[in-house]
Amino acid sequence: MELSGSVWMRRVGMLSARRSLLHLAATQFHSSSTNFLASPPLSFPFLTKFLGPSSRCISFSTHSSAAPLPSTLHQDDLFTSPVGDDEKKAESPKKGSKVILKGLTYPEVEKWVQSHGYRPGQALMLWKRLYGNNVWASCYEELEGLNKDFKKMLGEHADFKALSLKDIHTASDGTRKILFTLEDGLIIETVVIPCERGRTTVCVSSQVGCAMNCQFCYTGRMGLQRNLSTAEIVEQAVLARRLLSSEVGSITNVVFMGMGEPLHNFENVLKASEIMVDEQGLHFSPRKVTVSTSGLVPQLKRFLRESNCALAVSLNATTDEVRNWIMPINRKYKLGLLLETLREELCARQNYKVLFEYVMLAGVNDSTEDAKRLIDLVQGIPCKINLISFNPHCGSRFKPTKEDKMIQFRNVLAEAGCIVFLRWSRGDDQMAACGQLGKPGEIHAPLLRVPAQFQAALGASI
Ligand code: SF4
Repeated sequence: MELSGSVWMRRVGMLSARRSLLHLAATQFHSSSTNFLASPPLSFPFLTKFLGPSSRCISFSTHSSAAPLPSTLHQDDLFTSPVGDDEKKAESPKKGSKVILKGLTYPEVEKWVQSHGYRPGQALMLWKRLYGNNVWASCYEELEGLNKDFKKMLGEHADFKALSLKDIHTASDGTRKILFTLEDGLIIETVVIPCERGRTTVCVSSQVGCAMNCQFCYTGRMGLQRNLSTAEIVEQAVLARRLLSSEVGSITNVVFMGMGEPLHNFENVLKASEIMVDEQGLHFSPRKVTVSTSGLVPQLKRFLRESNCALAVSLNATTDEVRNWIMPINRKYKLGLLLETLREELCARQNYKVLFEYVMLAGVNDSTEDAKRLIDLVQGIPCKINLISFNPHCGSRFKPTKEDKMIQFRNVLAEAGCIVFLRWSRGDDQMAACGQLGKPGEIHAPLLRVPAQFQAALGASI
């Protein structure tokens, strides 16, 4: 058990604690069947005290066999913040009376510049200085060649910075982890991964922490603290180029695989990716900007319809039973629904392949049966599959699959005609690898109980 009811209460506030307690209460009564949470019993008076009289209305069932949550509980109680379909609109890019330039798309910059009495041509010159190679201006003093009055206006009315550099850690394989401080003092991490084939990738964060509580992920342990603004996302890519291009070469690819579930911050992520692919600015190819999701089906559908960037889906299991445990989002959007949605959405798209990510966890999802099920699951979906070596972290209960077993798994998929790649760990000696970002505070998001058949593989106990 990672948290007591009262500590969790302080951590997430009364409202969300009430939701968590509802969930704890439900799972206590379902522990023999669903095995969700490893938690000591909470007494009924304790629950009633914090949940209020309405908690008396919860109907609990004690029968076995995959019982659903009581109808009075919402599925979102499985996460560390609500997982709604009604995403907030992109935040207004303003700091005080100043507009935050990196939160604006080019048409918005043009409109804003015109509203201050300047020509669209000057907007383009500004845009090129914000995002053009070897400029990446981070204050108005760096805007060489612009009209003096225009610069003065920008100094008075525009803000150039969303992030402050805190530190850069270099791993033994050359991967860099950049730590940025946000305006409110929170810290985010961005990773730059140089590759020998002339391709360098920046992995950006979209949230501080994450609500999805994937059990193998260190970031998930933090819970969700807040969404990043469009400017905070865009500036990670800009500063990665500004700070590291001379050392690592041109940064050609962006992956939204840092801290957070990108599609849980839909509007800001969509807008940031639009800014990143602008041909007059950062000019990443849309095929080289990949947004990853744990499987938020409505947002995924919307993303495929509204964006021309690439999509990655973090799959990681071949049965609902395993996925319900290691990725609680699966309890809301089941594997069948997720894959059927992809099948339907992609059937009419030309030259588009979704990338499935599959983190290999020893004894959990790496059997030959899993490989065969995976082949069946992705039938009819244009896709590539990345088999990713699990990166252990402090407190993680999972173990990485051995190399020879990963190769064997890959071979089963390849023989069936799948496009499949093995991805080894990068940057893990600096906690810069996939699933290792962030820093949980004293209080962690809840660990879910290990299903009985996997306890031996994890060396866990109920
Ligand atoms: S794997 Fe991604 S979605 Fe899951 S908890 Fe980690 S950051 Fe969030």
